[in-house]
Amino acid sequence: SLDGVPMTVAHDESYHGMLFLFQDVSDIRRLERMRSEFVANVSHELKTPVAAVQGFAETLLAGGVKDEDTARSFLKIIYDEGNRLNRLIGDILDLSKIESRRIQLDYAPVHVLTLFQSVGNVLEGTAEYKRIEIRIDVPEELFIEADEDRLRQIFINLVANGISYTPEGGRIVIKAEEFTDEEYEDERIRFSVSDNGIGIPKKDLPRIFERFYRVDKARSRSSGGTGLGLSIVKHLVELHRGTISVESELGIGSTFIVELPILQENP
Ligand code: ADP
Repeated sequence: SLDGVPMTVAHDESYHGMLFLFQDVSDIRRLERMRSEFVANVSHELKTPVAAVQGFAETLLAGGVKDEDTARSFLKIIYDEGNRLNRLIGDILDLSKIESRRIQLDYAPVHVLTLFQSVGNVLEGTAEYKRIEIRIDVPEELFIEADEDRLRQIFINLVANGISYTPEGGRIVIKAEEFTDEEYEDERIRFSVSDNGIGIPKKDLPRIFERFYRVDKARSRSSGGTGLGLSIVKHLVELHRGTISVESELGIGSTFIVELPILQENP
């Protein structure tokens, strides 16, 4: 009957409405779970260096350490852990600012080669210390519309990781080339940062952009890592409407690929 038709539709609509409602609730639960997981991780990450500072300071204060070299080595640990706390707090604040979209990107034309030269300058000392060569292979005339400070932050993170996870005498290569993106239907630049370092196991590849995810906790700690670098990088890339991916082979090296639109939409 004709009366039956609207009834069915009405029924269907409310049925869909219910489904959407359930989906929203499960999204909220998932976000809630992610948030509490993050808080638990943050507490754990902060407590470790604080415990080290307290423990070594207490031992020194108790006056039991008579040997000067031992005392100095304890002070060095306190100093390093203090630095580590500082980096962690900086990264956590930065990440929460970026995630809650409380940052305003300041777009302007950036000369890509100059940008990479400044990235190279910032990391020159660390690279030289490990005898790692940074090679920049970028066309002279390339420009991109971006937030220059955030763009620099993206590549400082990627190149610094390359240095951390590459043995002495290694090499980092930075490249950039223009291409037409079929999917986004715009002109983009494909950046790549390659190292010939330790590589990343296949099973870890999908997870390395997660907050606090590290393949090897001990190694990340000893290189001064916070485990937040790549998640910050991914957010910054996505804020620029770009994508990031990684290719890696254990013992051969890793390549991080960042693709960004050359022009940003005016708000
Ligand atoms: P971290 O502070 O530990 O370096 P990141 O978020 O920058 O944290 O990176 C997450 C993890 O991804 C690292 O702990 C490391 O295991 C892996 N990783 C990142 N970059 C590289 C690289 N170039 N080569 C090998 N492993 C890498």
